[in-house]
Amino acid sequence: MISPMPRPDSPDAESFDCDVAIIGGGPAGSTAAMVLAREGLRATVFEREKFPRFHVGESLLPFNRDLLRRLDLDDKVDQFGWVRKYGAFFVTNDGGLQHQFDFDEYFKSPHDHAWEVERAEFDDMLLRHAEESGADVREEHHIRAVNLAANGSTLTVVGPDGKEFPWRARWVIDASGQASFLAKKLGIRKNIPDLRKVALYSHYKGAKRREGKHEGHITLTFGEQRWFWSIPLRDDIMSVGCVVDRDRWESGTAEEMLDECVASSPYLSDVLENAERVRKVHTASAFSFQAKSYVGDGWMLAGDSAAFLDPIFSTGVQIGMESGEMAALMLAKRIKAGKPLRPEMFKSYEKKLRKWTDTCFKIIRAYYHPQFQPLFFSPKQRPVKHMAPFFAGQFNLGFRSRFFFGLFFFLLRMLERRQFIPDPRPEGATAHHG
Ligand SMILES: Cc1cc2nc3c(=O)[nH]c(=O)nc-3n(C[C@H](O)[C@H](O)[C@H](O)COP(=O)(O)OP(=O)(O)OC[C@H]3O[C@@H](n4cnc5c(N)ncnc54)[C@H](O)[C@@H]3O)c2cc1C
Repeated sequence: MISPMPRPDSPDAESFDCDVAIIGGGPAGSTAAMVLAREGLRATVFEREKFPRFHVGESLLPFNRDLLRRLDLDDKVDQFGWVRKYGAFFVTNDGGLQHQFDFDEYFKSPHDHAWEVERAEFDDMLLRHAEESGADVREEHHIRAVNLAANGSTLTVVGPDGKEFPWRARWVIDASGQASFLAKKLGIRKNIPDLRKVALYSHYKGAKRREGKHEGHITLTFGEQRWFWSIPLRDDIMSVGCVVDRDRWESGTAEEMLDECVASSPYLSDVLENAERVRKVHTASAFSFQAKSYVGDGWMLAGDSAAFLDPIFSTGVQIGMESGEMAALMLAKRIKAGKPLRPEMFKSYEKKLRKWTDTCFKIIRAYYHPQFQPLFFSPKQRPVKHMAPFFAGQFNLGFRSRFFFGLFFFLLRMLERRQFIPDPRPEGATAHHG
C-alpha cells in the first residue's frame, strides 16, 4: 500500500529535496521544469552540460507556437531574429522536380510560420526561462544512478567538482534525450531495426539561398538511399545534414562520408557550390527507438528519452516540449492535491504520448516506402492536403485526418507491390530508400 504523498506545503514535504527531479535540461526537461515551477512546485533540473551547448534539430513547427504562447515565450522567440520558416520544399536528387509546401495554404496566422533556430541559443533560452520561473537549474550535474520507488526516489548526482551526492525527489522525469537514461537502466528501450539510420551534418557559409518568404523553407532532398535536410539559419549559415542507412557507411571519416553524400546529390552540390564548411562534421545516431512504457513507479519519460523518431518531419522539439508540459501538469495536479502518485494515475499521459509517437512512426515508415514519395511531388493529390496538419505539428488529428491516415496506411499495406499513386518523376529521378 502506497501512502499518500505529503502536500508540498506540509512538514513531511521536508523529507524531499524537491518535488520533481528532472534528468536533462533540453526542450523536454526545461519545459517540464518551467511548468512545475509555475504551478508552485519545487523542480530541480540536473543537466550534465554547461549551456549554451551545440545540439542538432534546428527546424521548428508552427503548432509548437501554441505551447510557446502558453509559456509566454512566443514573442521572446520572435525577438531573437531567427529565420522565419513558412514551409518546406521537397526536391528530387537532381533538383529537377521541386514541390513547394507553404503552411499558409492550409493555416492562418500564427500557424503560418515557425522558425529555424540555433539550438544552442534556443535551448539556453528555455533553460533560463525555467530558472526565471523558479526552477532550481543545475548545469554540469550528471545523474549517475537512480534508486526508484513510488513513494520517493533517490538520485545519485555527480557535481562539477566530481563529487557525488544523493538527491531525494517525490518523482523523477527522465528527459535525458537520446541517452534515455532510465529506459536503458530499466531495460525497456526497444530499438526499431528497420529505422537503423545515421545522421551526418555540419554548417556551411555562403550556400545558395532562396529569397523573400521562401528563404526560410526547410528543403528535404530525396537522395539515393538517403535523404538530406538544408535549413537556412541566420548570418548566411546553412545547416546541411544527411540521413543514411547505418550499413551504408562502411569506411572513411565523417567528413569523407558527408562529402560523398553531398557529391551524390546534384541538387545539394549546386546549393553548396561556393559554400565553405564552418563547423566540424557531427554524427548522431538516428536509430529510432521507443521505450516499452513511458510511466512507472516513481518515474515518467518525456521527449526523446521516451521515443526517438527519425527526424524527417522535424517533430522532435515539439513532442519533447509537449510531453514535458503534459507530464508536469499531471504531476502538479496530484501533488498539490496531496494525492498518492501511482503509475496507473498517469495512464492518460502514456496513452496520449504513445498515440503521437505511434502516428509519427507510421508516417515515417510510410515515408521510407517507395509508394509514398510520389506524394510529395504531386501537389494535386488529396493525401498531401490531409497530411498538412501533421507536417505543421498538429498531432491531435481531427476525425477526417485520422480517417484518411487509417485508410492510407491500410492501402499501403494492401498495395505493397503496386504503384497506386502515379509517380510524376521521370525515370531515373526516383529515390530509393532502404
Ligand atoms: C539528425 C537529427 C536531426 C534533427 N532535426 C530536428 C529538427 O529539425 N527539428 C526538430 O524538432 N527535431 C529535430 N531532431 C530531434 C530533436 O533534436 C530532439 O527531438 C530534441 O532535442 C528532444 O529534446 P529532449 O529535451 O528530449 O532531448 P535533448 O534535447 O537531447 O536534451 C537532453 C539533455 O539531457 C542531458 N543529459 C543526458 N543524460 C544526462 C544525465 N545522465 N544527467 C544529466 N543530464 C543528462 C543532455 O546533456 C541533454 O542536454 C533531430 C534529431 C537528430 C538526431
